[in-house]
Amino acid sequence: MTTTRVPLQYCPECKTQLEAATSLIDGQTPEPGDPTVCIVCTAILIYEPGMMVRLATKDELRALTPANLFELVRTQTAIREMHRQRRRDNYANN
Ligand SMILES: [Zn+2]
Repeated sequence: MTTTRVPLQYCPECKTQLEAATSLIDGQTPEPGDPTVCIVCTAILIYEPGMMVRLATKDELRALTPANLFELVRTQTAIREMHRQRRRDNYANN
C-alpha cells in the first residue's frame, strides 16, 4: 500500500475529513482525473486539479474501464470489511 497526502478537504457525500489517499497497489499515487473511494462511505470520487475531490458523475462511472471498475469495487469491499471488523472488535471489547 502507498499513502499520499492530499489537501485537507471533506468528502462531498458524507463530509468526512480527508487528508490522504491510500492505494492498495504499492507505488501508485493519485493524479487529477483519477477515481478514488471515500474511506468512510465508499462514495466514488474524482480528483480535480489541485487534488480536491468531487463526486463522480454517471458519465464518468460509465466510462470506467472494467479494470478500473474492478479496482474500485475491490477497494469498496476492503473498506466495508475493515468497518465490519472494527464493529466486531468494538462489540467484543464492550
Ligand atoms: Zn464519504
